[in-house]
Amino acid sequence: MMLEVENLSVAYKGIHAVNGISFTVPAGGITCMIGRNGAGKSSTVGAIAGFVKASGGRVVLDGRDLTHTSTAGRSRAGVALVPENRRIFGTLTAAENVMLGAPSSRGDAQARFAEILELFPAIRTFQGRGGHQLSGGEQQMVAISRALMCSPKVLILDEPSLGLAPIVVKAVFAAIEELASAGQAILLIEQNGRAALRISQRAYAMSLGQVHELDHRSAGFDERELHALYL
Ligand code: ATP
Repeated sequence: MMLEVENLSVAYKGIHAVNGISFTVPAGGITCMIGRNGAGKSSTVGAIAGFVKASGGRVVLDGRDLTHTSTAGRSRAGVALVPENRRIFGTLTAAENVMLGAPSSRGDAQARFAEILELFPAIRTFQGRGGHQLSGGEQQMVAISRALMCSPKVLILDEPSLGLAPIVVKAVFAAIEELASAGQAILLIEQNGRAALRISQRAYAMSLGQVHELDHRSAGFDERELHALYL
């Protein structure tokens, strides 16, 4: 397993947002976590990346225990997060935004950027444009590329489809699938459950701070029931 989350809990002044959840993300492929607003998804992601304090549990990346590691240390260890609101700098070009993700210790940032352009050739067409002139889909591509600059062991995407038109969601999800088939381990957090399940090899549903693994590839899987319960 690339990422192992064991008995993770997050509490805010007595509010239990995440209640001792356990799940795993295999190396290579897409694992999704779906759930409604307020289910605890962002708290979970924050506790994995290290900017939300866990009240219990363990986070293990590629066999290394990161539970007591700082946010920067987790990033160096290989945890990369594409945040929900993308956080693109409007005054920098698309290419400059991507390059912000390059670790200062790496001398081969240009080579990595070229590799990313292979994965997302569309970026070539708008790489010189200012961040504030990019569409939502272009911004999402830039945010994902920026996270990929440090060649992470696990890429966590927090609701990448949020606010995007359906056709753009399709393009973003196709890019995510391509990344996964190139061997990237991906944790995809989504409210757009149907689309996420379609591209995921492993799936969890989150509700009221708890997670349940879904047998979404089995013939008996009832998507309507899932929607009634979790979406
Ligand atoms: P969203 O999609 O809206 O981000 P989510 O599934 O990511 O929802 P969380 O944001 O993790 O859910 O929130 C889980 C619970 O924790 C909610 O009840 C929320 O109100 C609460 N919560 C989140 N952040 C804080 C905070 N900083 N202080 C207090 N309560 C919080």
